[in-house]
Amino acid sequence: MSGDLLLDRAKALDAADPLAGFRDRFLTAPASDLLSYLDGNSLGRPLEATARLMDAFVREQWGGRLIRGWTDGWLDWPITLGDRLGAVALGAAPGQTVIADSTTVLIYKLARAAVDARPGRRRVVLDTDNFPTDRYVLEGIAAERGLELVWISADPLTGVHPAQVAEVVDDRTALVLFSHVAYRSGWLADIPEINRIAHEAGALTLWDLCHSAGSVPVELDAWGVDLAVGCTYKYLNGGPGAPAFAYLRHDLQDELRQPILGWMGHRASFEMGHGHEPAPGVRALLSGTPPILAMVPLHANLDMLAEAGIEAVREKSLLLTGYVLDLADAWLTEAGVDVVSPRDAARRGGHVTLRRPGFEQLLEPLWDSGVIPDYRRPDGLRIGPAPLSTSFSEVYQGLSVLRDLLEKQR
Ligand SMILES: *Cc1c(COP(=O)(O)O)cnc(C)c1O
Repeated sequence: MSGDLLLDRAKALDAADPLAGFRDRFLTAPASDLLSYLDGNSLGRPLEATARLMDAFVREQWGGRLIRGWTDGWLDWPITLGDRLGAVALGAAPGQTVIADSTTVLIYKLARAAVDARPGRRRVVLDTDNFPTDRYVLEGIAAERGLELVWISADPLTGVHPAQVAEVVDDRTALVLFSHVAYRSGWLADIPEINRIAHEAGALTLWDLCHSAGSVPVELDAWGVDLAVGCTYKYLNGGPGAPAFAYLRHDLQDELRQPILGWMGHRASFEMGHGHEPAPGVRALLSGTPPILAMVPLHANLDMLAEAGIEAVREKSLLLTGYVLDLADAWLTEAGVDVVSPRDAARRGGHVTLRRPGFEQLLEPLWDSGVIPDYRRPDGLRIGPAPLSTSFSEVYQGLSVLRDLLEKQR
């Protein structure tokens, strides 16, 4: 397809896009030079409503209610916002999801709880291509508890396959940990099938949803997931350093105990009593004072996602990444760029990764032109168009700047 036809296609897709109107709800800074934001998979853009909510929270709730705010409702936000997230994006019935900490800390808490609940089993299965923090945390737990890590070599292009999991899990496996969407390639793992295999061997499953929450529909309850974590600052637009979420299946809540016993996970936080008695249910996952200020944006974002609907978001996401693939094939592959993401929509998450030596030198000129993709060493450029804030024309503009820079580099 020629450049003109590709531009016509972007315009047609924008015209037919039922979610197009949501783009106007995002905030653009007054002097912004932004031409094309392609990094929704790393940091989502803020909503206009978020700026208003933050201002109102400081002036009215924090400034007005002061300490009374805690009993007005702040103390329940980890649970009420967790339930809302569970309903809107995770397929989780109430009472199983909390907002807290960071993904890293929650992986630690949940993985430690899981391996401690399976004391006869000394192995944890994970893959070589998982996000670094996931691997590091499990290495730390293995050292702490004298466990053995069993590594699956994930093909960076095709990700972890159920057959690879079946090969290594057995009655020595306490836990398996994988990402739903691989952060590099965007490979979408088959959660129900991998869970089935792990459960048949008696192992627990922990899923990292950082790259799927808010982008790919998740059915935690229906898929039989035991434990899950994810962050809220990517496709959930929570803002830099926004807290994470954890899911702990109902029927494991009495059995699993996370290791950081703080007063906020206590049955009666304000009795200040001797000895830790865990709160009933999912609240026991909490440790210290919840990051209330950093949860404010989630109110606006979850309302927006509920209105848009996660299924519609996924449909647009696949059209966007499909369009990225079309542009890459038309413009970039002849300049030596490889597409290293699944072409099969059923196995593709929310981003497309392009690979070519020399991308690192293009990052600065791209940013200077207002085009912001995501760069991952050594030579990967991730194109992550967030469905609610990105138009097809914006993708066209961004990738045409990349095409022109590649031409100059040759
Ligand atoms: C972004 C991301 C994280 C980030 O963890 P933090 O504790 O928020 O730094 C973890 N895992 C995956 C798969 C991610 O994509």
